[in-house]
Amino acid sequence: MNGQLTVRLLRCGLCGTPLPVTGRSAAFQCEACHNHWIISGDSLAPLQVWRAAPPEGFPGEPVFLPFWVIEADGAGIRGGIEAAMEGRPVTERAETTRQDRELSHLSARIGDGTFRIFVPAFHPANTLAHIKIGKLLTECQPSFRARRQTEPDRPVMCSLDAAEAARLVDFIFIATLPESIQRCGDFVERLRLNTSPAPRMVELPFERRGASLRSLYGGFEISGRIADESIPAESAAR
Ligand SMILES: [Zn+2]
Repeated sequence: MNGQLTVRLLRCGLCGTPLPVTGRSAAFQCEACHNHWIISGDSLAPLQVWRAAPPEGFPGEPVFLPFWVIEADGAGIRGGIEAAMEGRPVTERAETTRQDRELSHLSARIGDGTFRIFVPAFHPANTLAHIKIGKLLTECQPSFRARRQTEPDRPVMCSLDAAEAARLVDFIFIATLPESIQRCGDFVERLRLNTSPAPRMVELPFERRGASLRSLYGGFEISGRIADESIPAESAAR
């Protein structure tokens, strides 16, 4: 270490306008051309932001929170789980029966198509809460229509880049598994998810309800404090 600190001005990679640096967000929106950028390692990478429409008929303006959505192949995941379960230690017959039953429920839930894992991208109040929110959305597998978010003055409050999100995928996926399977031997060590290399940044709608936020997809509630720093002031004041 030579004690020198390099300070660089962040500029939009398309039009060269200096980017507004805000709080804890690692993502920025150019005020001139409205494109989004994210700090990734030592450089600035373009970021496509998608915004999920609230369910039809929802009145009012939801609060949007960003998630990295990582796609995995359902059949591949089930293969990985089954392979990891093969080496399970001998347990009581009742436990084995229970695991088998839960495993078949799980296989049905994952299916053969695309299975999406949701990693919260907003600044984490704490890691456990983060994993829990990711787990709830991943269990729900919401279907929504998403559009590119290119409106001005809508920076995405993202504090996690795609590579950091990829490191949380396994933890979130494992949290969605039945306990009997989580407990199973060194299953967690052996499990490998075959995920897509290109996570997508999607903002999902939440409704403010007093001190909590209710997910408009899945219907679960989370403490508003978890995401307070990620909610733009005008929405927080509502
Ligand atoms: Zn620009």
